[in-house]
Parts: sequence; C-alpha cells; structure tokens
Amino acid sequence: MTPEHFDVIVIGLGPAGLVACRTLAEKKISVLGLDRKQEIGPPKRCAEGLGLAWFKRAKLKISPEWCVHKIYGATLFSPSGSSVTLKSKKLQGYILERKILEKHLAMDAVKKGAKIIAKSDVIEARREPGRVFLRVNNGGEEKQYSCGMVIACDGIDSLIARQLGLNTTNKLVDVDSGCQYEMTGISGYDPAVLNIYFGTDVAPRGYAWIFPKRKDTANVGIGIGGMQKETAKYYLDKFIASRQGLAKGSVIEANAGIIPVGGFLENMAKDSLLVAGDAAHHVDPVHGGGIGIAMEAGILAANVAAEAVHKKDFSEKFLSRYNKLWYETRGNELKKKLRVRHLLEQLSNDDFNYLADSLTIEEVMKIASADLDKPTKLIILGKKLVKRPGLAKIMLKYLN
Ligand SMILES: Cc1cc2nc3c(=O)[nH]c(=O)nc-3n(C[C@H](O)[C@H](O)[C@H](O)COP(=O)(O)OP(=O)(O)OC[C@H]3O[C@@H](n4cnc5c(N)ncnc54)[C@H](O)[C@@H]3O)c2cc1C
Repeated sequence: MTPEHFDVIVIGLGPAGLVACRTLAEKKISVLGLDRKQEIGPPKRCAEGLGLAWFKRAKLKISPEWCVHKIYGATLFSPSGSSVTLKSKKLQGYILERKILEKHLAMDAVKKGAKIIAKSDVIEARREPGRVFLRVNNGGEEKQYSCGMVIACDGIDSLIARQLGLNTTNKLVDVDSGCQYEMTGISGYDPAVLNIYFGTDVAPRGYAWIFPKRKDTANVGIGIGGMQKETAKYYLDKFIASRQGLAKGSVIEANAGIIPVGGFLENMAKDSLLVAGDAAHHVDPVHGGGIGIAMEAGILAANVAAEAVHKKDFSEKFLSRYNKLWYETRGNELKKKLRVRHLLEQLSNDDFNYLADSLTIEEVMKIASADLDKPTKLIILGKKLVKRPGLAKIMLKYLN
C-alpha cells in the first residue's frame, strides 16, 4: 500500500513540535504531527514556569485556562539561608497548566489545517530517493507515512535525528537530572515569586525550586548535575523533609526528566531533516528552562521547512539557513549563558554565601543589566570581592 504522503512530518508534540505544526499549517503546508504519548500534554515533566516575553515570541494567547498563577520575580536562597529577592511590581511571567496549554496548541494547529495523531510511536525514519519514509506503531498497528522532510522535536537524545544521520547524543556531564512533585497543602514560601535554593548539599551542580502554582500548591523540584552519587529523588525528598512547610504537604503528581544544559547542537540540519527543542539541546543552560526556547526553535524550523517545500529543495545546504537564523535569534545569547553556567559551576557554598551576604539587590541588578558597561561592573564586583581573590578571579574570567 502506498504510504500517506505529507510535505512535512513533525515528530514529537511537546512545545517545539506543536508550534511547528501550527506554523506550517498557517502557511498552508500539508503537515502531520505524530507523538508516541496516548494523550497530548501529560506527563508534564516540567515546573511550568514561562516568562512573559515568550508569549509574544511564540504567539501564545494568555488565557486563565493555562496561565494559572502570576509571577513577579524570584528569590534566590544561598546555602546558609540568606536570600536575595528580585521582585517587580510588573508581571514577569506565569506558572502554566502545561497539559492544558499543549492540548490547546494541538487543537489550534488542527484548526489551522494540520493533522495530528497521538499514540503514534515513530520506530523508523529512513531516507529514500526524494522522500523520507516512516514506520509508525499506532496503538499496536503498524502504519507507514512518507514526506518531503521531517522536523524532529522528539526530545532529549532524539532517536529520529540519529536515524537520519545527526548525532544528538548528550554527554552525561552535559545533562541535569530533574525530579519534581506537584504538592498541595504546603506553606513557607513567597507565592508571588519563584523560590530557588542553591548549595551543594541541597542540589549539587543545580538548584531546588518551589514554583507556586495555586493557593497552597506548588511544583517542588530539584535539578542536579549529571554525575552525582545520589539520585535527584534522594535530594528532593531530603529538601522536602528539611522544610516543615513542605513536609506536611501531599504529593499529587510526581515527574522526573533529563535536561540538556550543555549547549545546543552546532549543526541542526541534514538532508530532509531539521531538529528543534530539547532534541537540539535548545535549553537555557543557566536555569534549564526550555519551553519558550523550544517553541521559538519550532517556529524557525517550520518557517525554513515551508520555504524548502515551496522551493522543492530539502538539501542540507538549503536547510542549513536554520542554523544561521537560530544563532541570530537566540543562539548567540545562549552561548553567552553557557559561560555563565560554567562560572556558576565553579562557585563553592562559601562563595554563594559570601555573594548573597555582601551584594545588595541594586548591585545584583546592575551587574545583571545589559545597560551597564564592563568597567563599571568590574568596579562594583572589585569592591565586593577584594576579600575573596579566588572568587574575584573566577568572576573576572567570566566578565572578560
Ligand atoms: C523536571 C523538569 C522541570 C522543568 N521545568 C521547566 C520550567 O519550569 N520552564 C521551562 O521553560 N522549562 C522547563 N523544563 C524544560 C522543558 O520541559 C523542556 O525544555 C521542554 O519540554 C522541551 O520541549 P520539546 O518540545 O523540545 O520536547 P518535549 O516536551 O520533551 O517533547 C518531546 C515529545 O516527543 C515525543 N517523542 C519522543 N520520541 C518519539 C517518537 N519516536 N515518536 C513519536 N513521538 C516521540 C515525546 O512523547 C514527547 O511528547 C523542565 C524540565 C524538567 C525535566
């Protein structure tokens, strides 16, 4: 039987894939979206925080259906318990009900002309002259599809991209392990901000978080660097047990996942293939957030795929324009953030405590600001770090 043919098939329907389907459908390209999950949305594997700017960038509607809690900033806790709060009067972002957002995105893409099929596990992708051929396990039944090209949005360590010749494997050192509970009946945190906890005892090479979601309810989680003796669950349970306000609560959902924080792929295109989202390691290396970045990448990939369909050119040479667009739009910024991550990884508990105790909020804002020139930042830091030459050396290396 001749397999059903589409111009583009998007594999994996998380934020990247869903927005790619929507964008292609808006451009009247015939597009099929496939996901192995039996339901678009769950499991969430996510703390569901999304900054306000991403709504505009990804053309997302702000709706009370999926924007369930307003966030005005963040409080950062040092290992000794000192804290720095960066809070604004202006809204900074939302905690999502991500499962509902994703279902909405799927319905929106379909309304615009995409076809979407859940419970469709792509088990083989192979190139044939002039097309890509897919074998799919659709709820126990084998189906076959073909297309001009594939956008692989199939998450961390994308199998599809690898089958089509692009190595997406992460090194163990470049991933964080995340474990999270949605908890209810809890207290002891500021519900207006993201509460973030540092320290090698709390979360080695990472941080713990309380992202408030509803009254007395929050996503409580932990992300730790890839090669630790204990699991992320061990550290999360320890974190919860050490806080009365959390320990008395109940777990209403548990998730775990891997976060690719080691920097995105240099090349994200091959003949008939583009890769977007976690599959291309499109994650903010400092905090591990990837929803917005995945959607932005999904839109860029879909725009390039639409051009390729119109030009009937699915060659790597043509599709490589996606790499350039990515660097211009987000890649260059993420490269700088990777350096910040490397800086943070070098700080000890004492360094974190010292910074939290000695820098004022105004100074933190100035150092973080893009408006301030480097010499002024160096003067602020220099004055503070004169008693800690080791830390000054690390900071200088980053600023340079
Ligand atoms: C614990 C944790 C907390 C996080 N918190 C946040 C946060 O607060 N804010 C934030 O911005 N980011 C957060 N992230 C990161 C964010 O969840 C990801 O970056 C984001 O989901 C990436 O989207 P994606 O579309 O690329 O991939 P995914 O959401 O992983 O989607 C990939 C999809 O591909 C499907 N798939 C895989 N293989 C196949 C196949 N062969 N055939 C068919 N389908 C397939 C999967 O079923 C899945 O639906 C968190 C991550 C973790 C682990």
